[in-house]
Amino acid sequence: MVTVRDRLAAPGPHFSVEFFPPRDDAEESTLWLAIRKLEPLRPAFVSVTYGAGGSRRDRTIRITERIAAETTLLPVAHLTAVGHSVAELRHVIGSYASVGVRNILALRGDPPGEDPGAEWIAHPQGLNHASDLVALTRSLGDFSVGVAAFPDMHPRSRDLESDTRYFAQKVAAGADYAITQMLFSAQDFVDLRDRSVAAGADVPILPGIMPVTSYGRLMRIIELSGQRVPEDLAEQLLAVKGDAAAGREIGMAHAIRMCEQLLAAGAPGLHFYTFNRSKATLEVLGALGMTQVPALQS
Ligand code: FAD
Repeated sequence: MVTVRDRLAAPGPHFSVEFFPPRDDAEESTLWLAIRKLEPLRPAFVSVTYGAGGSRRDRTIRITERIAAETTLLPVAHLTAVGHSVAELRHVIGSYASVGVRNILALRGDPPGEDPGAEWIAHPQGLNHASDLVALTRSLGDFSVGVAAFPDMHPRSRDLESDTRYFAQKVAAGADYAITQMLFSAQDFVDLRDRSVAAGADVPILPGIMPVTSYGRLMRIIELSGQRVPEDLAEQLLAVKGDAAAGREIGMAHAIRMCEQLLAAGAPGLHFYTFNRSKATLEVLGALGMTQVPALQS
């Protein structure tokens, strides 16, 4: 089995990309275009998010399977505990295994609906925390499991101390790497890594990158994710509000500078939130000199 850990251990720098399950056939074509453009650059892995329910979930499973079967890429399937009994979770994990998908990103997930602050209610026969899903997945066979990490702490966490402790619990349950929420400062990544290591959670942590190219979009992300406002970026984007080209220039330059700082600080790779498009990711990789990624070992 090839794992994300194996990929990250090979000489870098590495990058990975995240896609979401398309809503319809047109979106699916856009996704495949992005996949085919990024494939020759040999990302360490590509991950596919797990939808809030029903047909989106079926698409996640189908897309992940297709990536495994029809591309040279290593797929990572996101899985959440939302609305699933343990029996259903076992079934989904088993379906992944049956098509050769052995890399799972184990998440608790958010309550369904638009309200990011809604109360979390577990399925009556389900799981309560991502650490339970890590343990379940590991107990079912030879899987490599990743988890989420939050540089600003999870918005529902009481304080940094408990947030770090629960993160360390996911690692103790068998997670062997983590991916962060999109971040806007390399220092936030360094602080997260340092406090995780100090808590005994010494696994590779991949910073999540998304160039944000307008003030409105930045504020929407902050609202949904509950993160702190990155003052410097917010000020710069606000100053050019309404000028799409200037906003893009600022957002791309900020992302490129931050990626350079992240790699210099020892980040094991860069994880790009792509929104199923390749252009911005390719541009950042190009500026970093990473469009000629060295051959991977396996
Ligand atoms: P957990 O690790 O369980 O943490 C949730 C909260 O509970 C935290 O405040 C934590 O400190 C606390 N906690 C943990 N364990 C305990 C405990 N034992 N006792 C008390 N409190 C505890 N969502 C999707 O729906 N689909 C996706 O595909 C998806 N992909 C994501 C990918 C990444 C890289 C990231 C960063 C997030 C993703 N999310 C996704 C969002 C994620 O599901 C939500 O942020 C969710 O609210 C938290 O998930 P978690 O796995 O971090 O949960």
